[in-house]
Amino acid sequence: MKKGIHPKYVKATIRCACGESFESTSIKPEIRVDICSRCHPFFTGRQKLVDTGGRVDKFKRRMEQK
Ligand SMILES: [Zn+2]
Repeated sequence: MKKGIHPKYVKATIRCACGESFESTSIKPEIRVDICSRCHPFFTGRQKLVDTGGRVDKFKRRMEQK
């Protein structure tokens, strides 16, 4: 790591190989990636966890009705 270097962070558009694009902050205005939060297996796994969370909410609603 060199001292005295502070890269200026700008609003960046990240474009994925799957066609998905989203905004983030980076030192470059446009970034191309091969994998993103939409097509990455890790994040699709997370989406399954979100679905599980929905089931918990339904369970909680049932408990409240009683
Ligand atoms: Zn993608």
